[in-house]
Amino acid sequence: MPDCIFCKIINDEIDSDKVYTDDQVTAFHDINPVSPVHLLVIPNKHIESVQNLEEEDQELMGHMFSVIGTLTEKFDIHRSGYRLIINNGPDAHQEVPHLHVHILGGKTMEHPMG
Ligand code: 5GP
Ligand code: ZN
Repeated sequence: MPDCIFCKIINDEIDSDKVYTDDQVTAFHDINPVSPVHLLVIPNKHIESVQNLEEEDQELMGHMFSVIGTLTEKFDIHRSGYRLIINNGPDAHQEVPHLHVHILGGKTMEHPMG
């Protein structure tokens, strides 16, 4: 998707601090972290939001969550805990219309959510 900032990150058209990449997913540090660990994990395929997922994306989503698990170990937050967030649409303040999972960790999260 030509004007998508995350597609540009995948294609190295703009700089990012990548921590993982394969033929299906890419992960990088959020440019504006809200916790000591703040990663974004995205499918390489441009999918706008959860609403735009198709049947054929099931394996991709399964793989993405497997990568998320591996990254939490790499960043040593798998025991202390972490929060996964997918902002979806205007009420959730989704800023970038390319599906992404935030991995937040390295501190005790605020509770309750919302
Ligand atoms: P959203 O609000 O859509 O769930 O989150 C978008 C996230 O993308 C924000 O946390 C924001 O800091 C991050 N972000 C936006 N532009 C860039 C960028 O160019 N590079 C990186 N690394 N993160 C970005
Ligand atoms: Zn995109």
